[in-house]
Amino acid sequence: MAGEASGPVRRVCGGNGTVALIETEHLTKVYEVGESTVHALDDVSLAIAQGEFVAIMGPSGSGKSTFMNVIGCLDEPTAGRYLLDGTDIGHRGRDELAEIRNKKIGFVFQGFNLLPRTSALENVELPMLYDGASPRDRRLRAAAALKAMGLEGWEHHHPNQLSGGQQQRVAIARALVNRAPLILADEPTGNLDTRSSVEIMELFVRLNREAGITIILVTHEQDIAAFSRRVVRFRDGRIVSDEPQQPAGGDAGGNPGRSVPESAPETDRGGRLG
Ligand code: ADP
Ligand code: MG
Repeated sequence: MAGEASGPVRRVCGGNGTVALIETEHLTKVYEVGESTVHALDDVSLAIAQGEFVAIMGPSGSGKSTFMNVIGCLDEPTAGRYLLDGTDIGHRGRDELAEIRNKKIGFVFQGFNLLPRTSALENVELPMLYDGASPRDRRLRAAAALKAMGLEGWEHHHPNQLSGGQQQRVAIARALVNRAPLILADEPTGNLDTRSSVEIMELFVRLNREAGITIILVTHEQDIAAFSRRVVRFRDGRIVSDEPQQPAGGDAGGNPGRSVPESAPETDRGGRLG
């Protein structure tokens, strides 16, 4: 999506000429814990193009969350380089990183991370508090994002008045409201029942196909990873496999944004993307 004019490095990902949204080169993250050293990330080089839908898998402790934190600009690597949309993320101040995060990345977490005693609408307005939007504009955009998530009529409910699936949809609306090109989701269905998990995954599929949003999602469940188009597996801080796959559910061979799938994307809830 919108590239930064200032980013001089425009890498190409794969053979199809797409620009890499995420590019890591030899990323390493080392934690010193007492006497011992943990290599949470160990020489991780990976490129993810705009418009991809990637599942990150691997056993507990394999470095998945550390990787997400680094590419989410929440944590700095010990060594290696990270380019986000062509911009080198290294050695930037807190404020600059916060601004990059706010513009480029929407986060979705396992525990929803909504503010309690705060309405769904106000939760979704939060990311816009820092970007100078007028209160009226904030409200309109938040309401539109909630509507896109099928939550029209639930704007004034508080998180504890919503089901887990609804809370996660509020969190996705919050992730979308700044029109970030990238969503990072760490175990987004980890606290949900099967039905709500499938609903959430179908929303991600739609956002990916219809809005071209790049989605990178951590899961340890094969059924959840099956919605993605590419599976990257970590073990002991390293990438041990990286495979494309035909996503479950919906068209089998479509390549969103680049070719027209034989079967059109679901349109039953079309228009809600706002
Ligand atoms: P995953 O998300 O795959 O379960 P993590 O990225 O959370 O794995 O952790 C990778 C490794 O780094 C683990 O051995 C974990 O104990 C260690 N680790 C993660 N965060 C910290 C930290 N803040 N301090 C020390 N060790 C950490
Ligand atoms: Mg984790």
